Amino acid sequence: MTYDVIVIGGGASGLTVAAVALSRGKTVLVLEAGERVGKKILLAGNGRCNVTNEHISVDRYNDPLVAPFLEKSEKVPAFFDAIGLVTRTIDGRIYPYTESGKTVLNLLRAVVPEKFVRTGVVVDGIERVGDVFRVCGETARSVVLATGSQATVGRESHFLYSPFGHTVRGLLPALCPLRCCRTDVKGLSGLRVKGALSLMDGDRVVERRLGEILFKEDGISGVVTLELSRKVFGKRDVAIDFVPDWSARETEAFLSEHSIEGVLQRPIAERVLAQSQRRNISVAETIKDYRVHSVERMGHKQAQVMQGGLPLGEFDDRLQSKFSPGLYACGEVLDVDGDCGGYNMHWAFLSGIIVGESV
Ligand SMILES: Cc1cc2nc3c(=O)[nH]c(=O)nc-3n(C[C@H](O)[C@H](O)[C@H](O)COP(=O)(O)OP(=O)(O)OC[C@H]3O[C@@H](n4cnc5c(N)ncnc54)[C@H](O)[C@@H]3O)c2cc1C
Repeated sequence: MTYDVIVIGGGASGLTVAAVALSRGKTVLVLEAGERVGKKILLAGNGRCNVTNEHISVDRYNDPLVAPFLEKSEKVPAFFDAIGLVTRTIDGRIYPYTESGKTVLNLLRAVVPEKFVRTGVVVDGIERVGDVFRVCGETARSVVLATGSQATVGRESHFLYSPFGHTVRGLLPALCPLRCCRTDVKGLSGLRVKGALSLMDGDRVVERRLGEILFKEDGISGVVTLELSRKVFGKRDVAIDFVPDWSARETEAFLSEHSIEGVLQRPIAERVLAQSQRRNISVAETIKDYRVHSVERMGHKQAQVMQGGLPLGEFDDRLQSKFSPGLYACGEVLDVDGDCGGYNMHWAFLSGIIVGESV
């Protein structure tokens, strides 16, 4: 039998393609390398699966070419309604009502039953034979590459479209912790602060974000660090402002009358005092500009997404290949990545719906 569509990859985007295509009466086969589908749906948001965000906008993504697709974002809540996923919004982030990724996966599995899925199948090539494609001994009129990335778990399968003329933009871990010079975080592992984190170019601030910073033995993490990691290329310095609500003058005034421990946990205060001496600047200045040196992205096993992938410009407005009609791509395998907060899952669902409606 020749399928209407073979979907390679059973993550959020691939299962969405399958769900939408099946609802249109198409014949579908999902091929998944892992023993189970939807691993990252269970991992996302620490198991709570932050599926989208109230404020989807192009500036949250890496590539302005994503804008015309984002205009169709209303398709995502409509898809959730169709599969029976009730959601709740917390600080703009949208979660399943149960706050459990298992719910999302179970609902997707209900509309893409087992008979349409083969697990434990690693696709290593796609062949065009006349008007159809052959994949692992099966044939289909359309093929969808929904293989995601190797961030945390998964595999890199972008190469499957190389024989059809597609390129792959350099893959880099993103939304990942930053490794740094150990002296700057010595004794701080496990501490959390609410502050401002700035990516520096010498004394120039390249980008500044407010939020929680988590110290690790060999670096820093937390949502603002993960978001800033998307802008770190090579080794850079970052600066922490531990009291972003105060001016330098207010900080100075406080310290002239009170102990530093009024605003900083003791191990952090110790690091600040040491750095203030080393840099020969005041303690107040150091509290507002504590330098963490030589930060660089940690590896793909620590990342939530990968930057890079198949360039969006090589696909049309239905995410069909401009080089080889019948081939589609969706989700993270494309060079689209967004901030923390549901933007990446949103792209996985949205692009999956667009492809599912097109194949
Ligand atoms: C720890 C963690 C937390 C996250 N939290 C959030 C969050 O809260 N909100 C958010 O928006 N995003 C989050 N993300 C990102 C989000 O999970 C991904 O962007 C999204 O799941 C990508 O979906 P996808 O379908 O494109 O790829 P994936 O989910 O990676 O699915 C791809 C599938 O393809 C399979 N595959 C790969 N190669 C082959 C092959 N050759 N043959 C057969 N199968 C293959 C893989 O096994 C995998 O199952 C998180 C990611 C991680 C790792």
